[in-house]
Amino acid sequence: MKKVICLGGGITSLIAAITLKRRHKDYLITVIEKDNECLKRIKISGNGRCNFTNKNISSIHYSNGEYINHILSFFNKEKDEFYKSIGLLYYYDDEGRGYPLSDSSRSVWTLIMDEAKRLGVNIVYDEIRHIEYHPNIILKGNNIYQTDYLILGLGGQSYLYKRDNYALLDELKIPLKEAKSSLCPIIVEEKIPAYLVGKRVKCVVNLLKNNQTVYQEQGEVLFKKDGLSGICIFNISAKINRLGKAKYIISLDLTRGLTFEDISLREKEYGKEKALTSLVNEEVKTYILSLKEDLYSILKHLSFTYKDNYPLKESQVTNGGIPLGEINLNDLSLKKYPKIYAGGELIDVDGDCGGFNIFFAFASGYFIGNKID
Ligand SMILES: Cc1cc2nc3c(=O)[nH]c(=O)nc-3n(C[C@H](O)[C@H](O)[C@H](O)COP(=O)(O)OP(=O)(O)OC[C@H]3O[C@@H](n4cnc5c(N)ncnc54)[C@H](O)[C@@H]3O)c2cc1C
Repeated sequence: MKKVICLGGGITSLIAAITLKRRHKDYLITVIEKDNECLKRIKISGNGRCNFTNKNISSIHYSNGEYINHILSFFNKEKDEFYKSIGLLYYYDDEGRGYPLSDSSRSVWTLIMDEAKRLGVNIVYDEIRHIEYHPNIILKGNNIYQTDYLILGLGGQSYLYKRDNYALLDELKIPLKEAKSSLCPIIVEEKIPAYLVGKRVKCVVNLLKNNQTVYQEQGEVLFKKDGLSGICIFNISAKINRLGKAKYIISLDLTRGLTFEDISLREKEYGKEKALTSLVNEEVKTYILSLKEDLYSILKHLSFTYKDNYPLKESQVTNGGIPLGEINLNDLSLKKYPKIYAGGELIDVDGDCGGFNIFFAFASGYFIGNKID
């Protein structure tokens, strides 16, 4: 009887364990989780609603997407069957984000945990501190475990206060790509006045790299004391990681479809202040009036200079981890250790906001679970 350990009780591990156990009922499959609960991220995702998938799954929504297209498509084709097999009913909202019909992450958590238990997947709570490979795979925590295959689903470094999940991989001498925060607020050079903090504005957000627009998204921006937040800003934090070091400007178009003529006419008729009333809120109006340029230019290009992403502990996902060059992409095993597999946020793939990250955790877990014989 073969033994398989799925290390880390997150989505990748649980989905790999379920998939593999369905294929090999006689395998002894154990999930080892360091905390006292599995799938913690499922519970907090999507503000407690669990945005676990997206209607528009495609490699363009991921860093290194071109290398994992086959993994995304494989699960995308079979996902409905898989969701149905665990009893998961879901819907897409107008933006294509997928949620359980209950709008409750608890339901997704329960369905995955129930299926793992039903199949007889063992769940052990222990923090693994050492991994040895030769001649067998040995894991050491409070107890010692031996396994034929190891699946690493240790997650990223976001949102954690204790970030030692990568230390295990140092022992295996796997060179890691530095973890950077992704899907997080952005710090800007400009001073944000206190009256603007906590206020929101609807706009089209443009990301300019060396003065060229490289990304655009419509949405809501939230002002913070040192920067900007909101879903489109989260996506911009991810794009900047993918586009590399450069001078970036985040430019907000607040015109809401009004043309240069519309705004000039309004300004002529009512004056600058009244022209802004009802177009933007009072705080944004005060901010715009404090700026020197002409009204249309400010409304069209309210610009902020990018300084940095917020730190990892305030991000939703990690850019970095095991470089794809270290991984056999045909089965997600490690090139140095063919009986060790890795997926989810631990590997150097991160997705946009909107269910793409949990989807990848499902997809890579499902892929690995189908590859081990
Ligand atoms: C606040 C927040 C909201 C989010 N919302 C969404 C969303 O709505 N949609 C979306 O797609 N994505 C969302 N994400 C991202 C998504 O949750 C992650 O990308 C996804 O959970 C990654 O799954 P994973 O299996 O790779 O890792 P994880 O789910 O992080 O699981 C890794 C597990 O490994 C365990 N572990 C680590 N080290 C050890 C060790 N040494 N021994 C044993 N166990 C260990 C950890 O405790 C953890 O349980 C959100 C993230 C955050 C932080």
